[in-house]
Amino acid sequence: MDLGEILPKTHPRQLDYEADETYGPICALVLHRYKTKFKDVIDVNLGCFKAREILKVCPKHKYAGGDGKRHVMSFGSTELARLVASGSRHSYDLMVNVGLRRFQKCRQIKEIGEELIEEYGLHIPHSQISAPAERFLLYVRCVHKQSVDLLRQEMENQGGWTLNIASSAEGKELVFVGLGAFQGNQVVLFS
Ligand SMILES: [Zn+2]
Repeated sequence: MDLGEILPKTHPRQLDYEADETYGPICALVLHRYKTKFKDVIDVNLGCFKAREILKVCPKHKYAGGDGKRHVMSFGSTELARLVASGSRHSYDLMVNVGLRRFQKCRQIKEIGEELIEEYGLHIPHSQISAPAERFLLYVRCVHKQSVDLLRQEMENQGGWTLNIASSAEGKELVFVGLGAFQGNQVVLFS
């Protein structure tokens, strides 16, 4: 019999992420383990798992006095920080994956849910899919804002661009999107 059928499915697998730093940046003393943090993460490649992060502190410089308040200066895992934003359980890769399906391929939330199951075996409640899609838009907006001059220049060089405006309703949710077709790529301009 397959072990997977016997073991309870409520226990997600756990992956460990240890602080990268070994020595304190100020005094070069060996860092000590400070505490362990757990977090549920969903990623397209790693699936659903529990991330265990091992934080470290310098025994001599545990407390840093930023803005008059004493707070613990701990070191965490860069790998985990690159995988998933703090305060979010959806990885950056999942956010981009969902965001491109939503705003480049114009998929409905329900369709994205089905595609994630089909392609990655990822079961994500539909109510949780719109959050990473919206966060993706925020990031795209930031990148656009940072690159307005470059984009404007390039658009002028190309002799203009096409703006497609579309909106759709999904339940109570209304989505209004402006897509700029530019060099064969669609660019979300506003939503
Ligand atoms: Zn130190």
